[in-house]
Amino acid sequence: MSGERKSIRRSLLLMVTLPTVILTVFVLSIGVLLFYHFYSQSIRDELASTTTMMVDCLDLTVRGDYQYENGILLKGNMNITDSTMLYKVKEKSGIDTTIFWGGTRILTTIEDQYGVSAAGTSAEKKVTDVVLGEGKDYYADHVDVDGTEYIGYYKALENDGNKPVGMVFAGKKLTLVYQKILRTLLGFVLFSLVAVLVAMLCTRQYSSGVIRDINTINHFLQTISEGTLGETLDERIRNRKDELGDIGIYADKMRTNLQKLVEMDALTALYNRRSGNQMLEVLVGQRAEYTAVMCDIDFFKKVNDTYGHAAGDRVLTAISAQIRENVGEDGFASRWGGEEFLVIYCMNLEETRKRIDKLQQTIRDLQVRYGDQTIRVTMTFGMGQSDPGESYEKVIKRADEKLYVGKNGGRDQIVM
Ligand code: GH3
Ligand code: MG
Ligand code: MG
Repeated sequence: MSGERKSIRRSLLLMVTLPTVILTVFVLSIGVLLFYHFYSQSIRDELASTTTMMVDCLDLTVRGDYQYENGILLKGNMNITDSTMLYKVKEKSGIDTTIFWGGTRILTTIEDQYGVSAAGTSAEKKVTDVVLGEGKDYYADHVDVDGTEYIGYYKALENDGNKPVGMVFAGKKLTLVYQKILRTLLGFVLFSLVAVLVAMLCTRQYSSGVIRDINTINHFLQTISEGTLGETLDERIRNRKDELGDIGIYADKMRTNLQKLVEMDALTALYNRRSGNQMLEVLVGQRAEYTAVMCDIDFFKKVNDTYGHAAGDRVLTAISAQIRENVGEDGFASRWGGEEFLVIYCMNLEETRKRIDKLQQTIRDLQVRYGDQTIRVTMTFGMGQSDPGESYEKVIKRADEKLYVGKNGGRDQIVM
């Protein structure tokens, strides 16, 4: 393999995080815009109703025209030069208010950072043009009040005949409005961050499990590719109910089948000579007592010649089944050559002899059906018992020599 190695976990994380972040940014932007829109709308309504309330309050409670003389604001004959109402409004709603005579502030709650009242200062020209000139309300989300930015609403104070003589102002400092928006935004951002984090953690958690199992399967396949077929795959993976579980099951089946192909003889389903050797090595390693029996079908060539090769195969299969049954769990049987078998019994010579007597008789009695023909064969057996620490080749050689003796001695016999 060449090129940069890619990690599934990284790709998964990227795949989950990227859309989540994009979606979050999108939702956040829309949310902020909507929030700003509705919040400024609600401030506008609040300011508008404050100015209406102040004008109504002045107009309905005291009769007469407004007059301003020598620093005193009169309504009819009544002196209304009193900021109490304005400070009450500020106390209740945080809204700054001002009463103008013409374009000049005469009563106001607005002060600069040193506590100096904005009374005496003037409204911007664009404001007086609209309110005093045209008698209309004026709203601005940026209006300069004595050097401070306000979001504000102006309404005309009118004398009889709808003549604007002054204005009423209600406003909120922009910095305070922004602070409120920022605080709400922070909540949004924190929530989004948590959402992204949770998505990442969930992905990480899930991908860790998947990747761990992929790595286990990977390692398992690697050992198979290197020729080790004895290991089995972790049961947890085979029990997974997803695609990885399927891969695990198939990988394990592949191993089992490969093992069969490598260890077993395809025709007789006995161990082949190679795995026979390996199992003998294990026995020797364990210093186990055993008896080797070399078995060979008598005149098998004749069977092939008489009935055909396929019939010969049928005989080999039938005899193999008998041998396997005879040895059972007490050893193992392997196909050593064409019609020659090496059977290992994990017992001494005498006990093995009893088994072989039985096997010899079974084979004598065996009738192999092939088409409408019945084939019968005999076998010759050579036996050799292991000595502790002796190499298995020597034991096999002894059994082989006994088999030779048996063949020369007339076949269908057991030599030990
Ligand atoms: P002996 O009693 O001396 O053992 O005589 P034999 O004919 O059994 O021995 P020989 O070694 O002369 O012949 C063995 C025959 O077994 C020759 C070969 O064609 C046959 N054979 C080997 N493998 C197979 C197989 O897989 N299938 C079949 N049908 N025949 C096989
Ligand atoms: Mg033979
Ligand atoms: Mg032979």
